[in-house]
Amino acid sequence: MSMTIATQSTDQGLILALSKGRIFEDTLPLLEAAGITVLENPETSRKLILPTNDPAVRVLIVRATDVPTYVQYGAADFGVAGKDVLLEHGGEGLYQPVDLNIASCRMSVAVNAGFDYASAVRQGARLRVATKFVNTARQHFASKGVHVDLIKLYGSMELAPLVGLSDAIVDVVSTGNTLRANNLVEVEKIMDISSRLVVNQAALKLKRARLQPIIEAFQKASTLQG
Ligand code: AMP
Repeated sequence: MSMTIATQSTDQGLILALSKGRIFEDTLPLLEAAGITVLENPETSRKLILPTNDPAVRVLIVRATDVPTYVQYGAADFGVAGKDVLLEHGGEGLYQPVDLNIASCRMSVAVNAGFDYASAVRQGARLRVATKFVNTARQHFASKGVHVDLIKLYGSMELAPLVGLSDAIVDVVSTGNTLRANNLVEVEKIMDISSRLVVNQAALKLKRARLQPIIEAFQKASTLQG
């Protein structure tokens, strides 16, 4: 055979892509429900591929925004990614069988405490909006008929309005503490966000026997949690 897909493994081993932090922590109980224990902690280990109690299952530690890409190309068979990240990625090549109800938060518009967002919108002002979620932000403001100039940032969106880079930000908010600490106010919720299980479409066919029980265990455990 001359043509092979670069990384799609043909054996029945499984690779799961996860990001460090909340998604990793919230996924551990779901893995336990599927009989899988991760044997190292990504916060203390420098390893990027972590072993589990099942020699056939390994966990890749990647950036949250890279999870869909690893799964799309088959470098990982499955992964866990936030809806925020999936909307920006587009979801191409991914099967999304389960909303895991973990790492829940919301995507919102926030502005400086003194900025009258409602009146700016009413007056048809053109707003500068800083965000890393440009697709979601573009769609949101287009659906409201608000004219925006989007400024793409890769982190610390909260800083942008403080230093006059933008009038508003679109970011994920959980407790609201980060906004409050920076004298920002949440003025509009765009959508609720939670994390989903994503599965490579080819892997689902080729490795169904291994994947299906895990998907079902995740489904059951996340329903119990939610
Ligand atoms: P909080 O102060 O609890 O509202 O958290 C807000 C900060 O944490 C923001 O800078 C977000 O980027 C990040 N954050 C909170 N929850 C999540 C989540 N579920 N997924 C990704 N980032 C989050």
